[in-house]
Amino acid sequence: MKDLSNENIIHVKKNDIEYLQFRKLLEYENIVHCYALKTGGLDFNRKNGESLVENNYRRICDTLEIDYKDVIRPDQNHTNKVVVIEEKTDCRPDIFSDNFTNIDGAVTNKKNIILATTNADCVLILFYDKEKKVIANVHAGWRGTFDKIAYNTVNVMKEEYDCNPENILCFICPSIRQCHFEVKDDVKSECEEIFRYTDRLEDIISVGEIKDGEQRYFIDNVLINKLLLEEAGIKEENIYDSNICSLCNPDLVHSRRFEGAENYGLGCALIKLC
Ligand SMILES: [Zn+2]
Repeated sequence: MKDLSNENIIHVKKNDIEYLQFRKLLEYENIVHCYALKTGGLDFNRKNGESLVENNYRRICDTLEIDYKDVIRPDQNHTNKVVVIEEKTDCRPDIFSDNFTNIDGAVTNKKNIILATTNADCVLILFYDKEKKVIANVHAGWRGTFDKIAYNTVNVMKEEYDCNPENILCFICPSIRQCHFEVKDDVKSECEEIFRYTDRLEDIISVGEIKDGEQRYFIDNVLINKLLLEEAGIKEENIYDSNICSLCNPDLVHSRRFEGAENYGLGCALIKLC
């Protein structure tokens, strides 16, 4: 059986499901976390059935021995908005978003809240301030990446919980990587405009083939997010990357570009303080 374990990641097979965990984050006993793979029908896209998705949150949370009713998931609308969540009033899991619309990231220091995000190629980032005991979970598609949601998240942690960025650990989940993130000139030009100041455009953008008469490019969204985190004060050595491309591993990781825009499934990142 294929195993995605690497120096930063451990690939766990338990019951009939599989998930990834960051080795570094496992050092902290007060944190429960995972990135759910698609094995065993795990899918968190409500368009594929709300009861199916609710049951899948239950399956992954049961496996991690946490209560799925504590899950909160923003609706993820490709914004750069990050909110602080201090309490959970609903006894059901907040997985269908009505309380958290136009939001792509959440921060908390409360123990009875599971922060969830979902993806199929987009970047998901988990945050943990090991001094202040604050967590965050953020969805950064290319739009949210360009609008600097990673940078905003660190700012929210600083402003709301007095976090020092030097104490924050960041964990980048599986997503589409530069090897597969092909775009046309419109996205590439916007990327150049926004991130020219980093002096890293040569690393961020590579030139691809001409298809249907149009030049294609490959963008490194993960690198952009790493640069934004460092700009916000995160230490380079505190950024732990799964180094896993969804489209290179479509048998295990949900990928919209592989599964198709009609009925693709979603993977899920969870993090909880305990
Ligand atoms: Zn790839």
